[in-house]
Amino acid sequence: MRVAVTGGGGFLGSHLCEALLRRGDSVVCLDNFSTGDPENIAHLLSDPAFEFHHADVSVSVEVAGRVDAVAHLASPASPPDYLRQPLETLAVGSRGTENALRLALRHDARFILASTSEIYGDPLVHPQEEAYWGNVNSIGPRSVYDEAKRYAEAVSAAYRRTHGVDVGIARIFNTYGPRMRPHDGRVVSSFITQALTGEPLTVYGDGTQTRSFCYVDDLVRGLLALLDSSELGPFNLGNPVERTVTELAEIVLEMTGSASEVKYHPLPVDDPVRRRPVITRARDVLGWEPETDITEGLRRTVAYFASEPERLGASAAAIRGGQDETVPLAAATAPAAPSQTIPAPATAATGVATGSPASGG
Ligand code: NAD
Ligand code: UDP
Repeated sequence: MRVAVTGGGGFLGSHLCEALLRRGDSVVCLDNFSTGDPENIAHLLSDPAFEFHHADVSVSVEVAGRVDAVAHLASPASPPDYLRQPLETLAVGSRGTENALRLALRHDARFILASTSEIYGDPLVHPQEEAYWGNVNSIGPRSVYDEAKRYAEAVSAAYRRTHGVDVGIARIFNTYGPRMRPHDGRVVSSFITQALTGEPLTVYGDGTQTRSFCYVDDLVRGLLALLDSSELGPFNLGNPVERTVTELAEIVLEMTGSASEVKYHPLPVDDPVRRRPVITRARDVLGWEPETDITEGLRRTVAYFASEPERLGASAAAIRGGQDETVPLAAATAPAAPSQTIPAPATAATGVATGSPASGG
């Protein structure tokens, strides 16, 4: 099979490209490195089954030759990234998704969309199953991501109904692992970077908010299962073990043996309070479930971060710098914060070669 992977130079995309190559598929990777990193795919460039195109998929998605499947992953994914690139995020979720769908239509190819648990917003139903329609603030700061992905789901489903494109939708819950950028601003990468460099761990709010963390290899198996099916879904893909942010901080501190303290910062506006996927549908229909527990997943992730000490130091400073420059916003859902702020994005001053004018989380 020849698979076009948009966003293939990013964290999840590069692991997906690798997994496809490993099983004998050919890959055409499209990326503009706005939040990705050329290093993620540098080791794949010598593989004759791998092609890379530097492209902004919001402008066009052109691939010469046959295409059997399209995996559309291009989009900023970390909150500091999409808050810093609001219009680009809306563009890639809307025009980018339409361009990728048209490629699938032209080639009669399978199409899978990397959607998100943010579809559910700050959910009023817990845990979240796919039948829940969500609770999204359509004009809040996170809406540039949430509504872009909701539109991406809508236009994908419409292409299936209208043009018969073989669309499948994955709603991905917080996924972590090697190749996350240390300064991307997400909680797992931030805590590990801070713990390994002796910086304070930055807990937003009171740390009682929850997430369910999935290891990248598990997630990629789920994406492959969806790609190989002809199911629309949507499918929640995530690990159903729920943790508070404070618990995550404790696990990271213990695993790294770090003496870092924990510092509390205001909760970002509209930060979801609880999140846990119901994965019955993915289990029953795709035969998929996660296998890696958080201790093993974090162990591998910490080892990856620890292997690049020079990158970590600069990243810790970038994360800290981001938090000093907070952007005040109107009060929203946060229970514990007297005034609402979001962390400003990490700057590109990290020494990390991303090829991007604004690399961050
Ligand atoms: P990432 O930022 O590492 O990867 C996204 C990639 O898309 C980057 O390489 C970026 O350069 C590329 N990209 C962005 N805009 C582009 C454009 N206009 N043209 C071409 N390339 C573009 O993030 P990730 O965590 O790997 O996320 C990948 C996908 O999975 C995203 O669509 C994201 O919304 C989705 N997702 C991820 C998670 C998670 O926890 N990692 C959770 C939910 C959904
Ligand atoms: N978070 C935190 N400290 C950080 C980064 C994030 O406490 O340095 C919190 C954040 O407020 C959220 C959770 O961790 O409640 C997960 O944040 P992340 O950005 O990783 O993912 P998302 O909010 O998109 O689920």
